[in-house]
Amino acid sequence: MISLQNRLACTYSIFLCVLLAGLAVIANIVTKNFFQELVKKSIESKNQEIVRAVRDLYNPWEKQFTLSALEAVGMLFMHEGFIIDLENPSGEKIWDARDMDMEHCVLALQKINERMRSSHGILSEIQNLDFPLYFGAEMIGTVYIASVGPFFYTEAQSEFIARFNKLLGASALVFIIVSVSISAGLAGALARPIKAASDAAHSIAEHYRKGNAPKAFNIALEERYSTVELSELSRSINKLGRELAEAERRQKQLTSDIAHELRTPLTSLQGAIEAFIDGVWTATPERLNALLYEVKRLVKLTEDLRTLTALEWETIVLHKTYFDIAELLETAVSQFEKLSREKGVALIPRLESARIYADYDRIKQVVINLLSNAVHYTDSGTITISVEKEFGKILIKIADTGFGISSADLPHIFERFYRTDKSRSRNTGGSGIGLAIVSAVIAAHNWEISAESKAGKGSVFTITASSP
Ligand code: ADP
Repeated sequence: MISLQNRLACTYSIFLCVLLAGLAVIANIVTKNFFQELVKKSIESKNQEIVRAVRDLYNPWEKQFTLSALEAVGMLFMHEGFIIDLENPSGEKIWDARDMDMEHCVLALQKINERMRSSHGILSEIQNLDFPLYFGAEMIGTVYIASVGPFFYTEAQSEFIARFNKLLGASALVFIIVSVSISAGLAGALARPIKAASDAAHSIAEHYRKGNAPKAFNIALEERYSTVELSELSRSINKLGRELAEAERRQKQLTSDIAHELRTPLTSLQGAIEAFIDGVWTATPERLNALLYEVKRLVKLTEDLRTLTALEWETIVLHKTYFDIAELLETAVSQFEKLSREKGVALIPRLESARIYADYDRIKQVVINLLSNAVHYTDSGTITISVEKEFGKILIKIADTGFGISSADLPHIFERFYRTDKSRSRNTGGSGIGLAIVSAVIAAHNWEISAESKAGKGSVFTITASSP
């Protein structure tokens, strides 16, 4: 299999070379045609020049041509590849270059013919043209011009064409080298970030397989490329690394939190059971109730964890029905009346009837968790439960005048196992899962929940539900 870099380099190079070859061929054809037209015109004007030169040698008083001068002119043009002969109006020969020097005439034409064949690949023929000569209205003769036709290149023109072709060839070679180098550079620039991204993904997979994944999450790919998609790719891989590192950290944290949560009640259960076995303790109802309380806590914890995992992995199916949220709140509030009365906290329901479409049991669980916290973290004052309708939404608020939550803790309270009581002493009794469940249930309904609080001033939890 060919690498992306090589494939791109080859494709670019081939494309540029084909483009270049095409341009060179077109340039060659255009200049060749243009040059040939130019040469044909120059031959035509040469013929006219010869005609003029011969006519100028006519002496009207003697009614004849000056032969000595004609010979000089004829020999001069012969060397240039034009063989002249002249006849008078009655067709009698006056002068013929071939008669003067047949050998030179043949040689001159042969040389040109050979040059056209070998240097330019043109098989030429001898063309004969005749031009009548007039002195005023009187015809004084006919000049015949034989030359290589339909056109021929002089030595200088031939040399020029050869040089031009060499220059074209050399430039093509330089362009090919330059374009191959540019292609290789361009291909490298495109392939490098993709290779880096693929290496990073590969190393993540490899480390996962070997079980030492965190090492692979320190990905810092260059994110600034001139190509949007490449920058996006690098950014995504870097983000993936960060997200995986965070997920790994949370998973570890979760495992250690669960271990911690289980250890405390299990240790006390173990100690008590050992004490019973050793006969150190007798199983009084109080002691057995205390143990039962720990067991119930454990059962609740595992149940909460199961619920939370199911909610977070979206394996829970919501059984939605239409019901009045005010009725649900009323039922929930009644469950806390005894406890709040004992604590000296007033429960104030301000309920307005509002129909919602939701999973009754899950929403009840949410309300109970919020109410339980409110009662738990409030020692005096009030807990107000209200329902309000606002801009087509239904706001369910649970506001207390309890301990409140510090601004440092507030952003984290919906995280699993987050408790403001860091010592994990049993003072508050919670496990830190209640609000995580609340948040997951609300998210599953596509609703929103927010918390406002100030330490020592109480808290307000607001659920924004959509009205059906
Ligand atoms: P927990 O079982 O510990 O109550 P939660 O997830 O329900 O766990 O709550 C997380 C933390 O948020 C609690 O430990 C508590 O510190 C804080 N919190 C929740 N509700 C309130 C409230 N109404 N007043 C003060 N603190 C609260």
